[in-house]
Amino acid sequence: MKRIYLDHAATTPVDQEVLELMTQIWREDYGNPSSIYAEGRKARMIIENARKTVANGLNASLGEIFFTSCGTEGNNMAIKNAVRDLGVEVIISSPTEHHSVWHSLLAVERDFGVTVIYLDVDEKGRIDLLQLKSLLETTQKKVLVSLMYVNNELGTVHPIQAIADLAKANGAYFHTDAVQAIGSFEIDVQKTPISFLTCSAHKFNGPKGVGFIYINGDNIIKPLLDGGAQERNMRSGTENTAQIAGLALAFQKANDQREERMSHIVGLRKHLMKRLVEVIPEVQFHGDYDGAFHPKILNISIPTSPKAEILLFNLDINGICASGGSACSSGVESASHVLEAIKLPEDRRALRVSMSHTTTIEELDRFVDVLRQNI
Ligand code: PLP
Repeated sequence: MKRIYLDHAATTPVDQEVLELMTQIWREDYGNPSSIYAEGRKARMIIENARKTVANGLNASLGEIFFTSCGTEGNNMAIKNAVRDLGVEVIISSPTEHHSVWHSLLAVERDFGVTVIYLDVDEKGRIDLLQLKSLLETTQKKVLVSLMYVNNELGTVHPIQAIADLAKANGAYFHTDAVQAIGSFEIDVQKTPISFLTCSAHKFNGPKGVGFIYINGDNIIKPLLDGGAQERNMRSGTENTAQIAGLALAFQKANDQREERMSHIVGLRKHLMKRLVEVIPEVQFHGDYDGAFHPKILNISIPTSPKAEILLFNLDINGICASGGSACSSGVESASHVLEAIKLPEDRRALRVSMSHTTTIEELDRFVDVLRQNI
């Protein structure tokens, strides 16, 4: 049985060309990028070319891109360093952020006495811009706004341009966790005033264990890690040349193919929603599914029942990978803070289907059939 992978928001398979490039670099270009002999200089050149690709893709300067180990690292760095080095005393965020943001917020609240204000979200996971505006206008202290671009469980897209403009107009910093958005949405940091933006390669067919943070050049922060001063002393640790090159190629391909990939995914999503409504009338959609959404993520729910409780297991034994509507880290399922925030009724069981440009209509049809048999 060919397995059907519908969990592209969790991670994506590595693109074949990216894999080939990384394999070649691992094999041949193993020099330490800090070494001054030819092997080192070659590795350094690969990294600097990758930086150029990323900076060009965001319309940023080369000096504003720092490679990291993952999205989690970038989010920790943005939040903790803004507090430590930029005098941030108040952070405005939302209750639907990824754990790497939420738990960093709890840490700076606990360790530095920062005040964290969570905006209200409605049943679709949308924030209220007027509430943000009023908080920004009335807060006297230095503020960081930390709001994700695309919600990883619901697919809801925050109005990033409006948020960035509001933050700038009120002298606040703005951090966006763009892990689910990179490659799918055009981001131009000259048009959208962002202070910190974070990314992880494994969400757009790059390798796991590498990401980057964009730090606007006006914001001088100190490094989170002390060490050998790599990444212009912002992120010490010997660079992972192959993975950084893999990130850049995957990023370039996602940007170059953005329109065709997105239009394929939009078509898949329409088909899936139509089939679900036809075959399973009791299905409901969540997130901003008919407004500002990322088409790759469709969050659905079915009524709770003994069968619904073991749905993921039954999908798995039928060859289908999808995610529960719950945060599942370290293999442990716990109640999702995102579904709690949107007040998903207790008599509904949520399921996240996430697609990519490689997903097919046939795979979705099989998914709907198996779902029908298992609820
Ligand atoms: N932010 C969002 C929105 C995510 O979906 C994820 C991963 O699931 C992360 C951050 C963390 O990224 P990484 O796995 O690279 O640490």
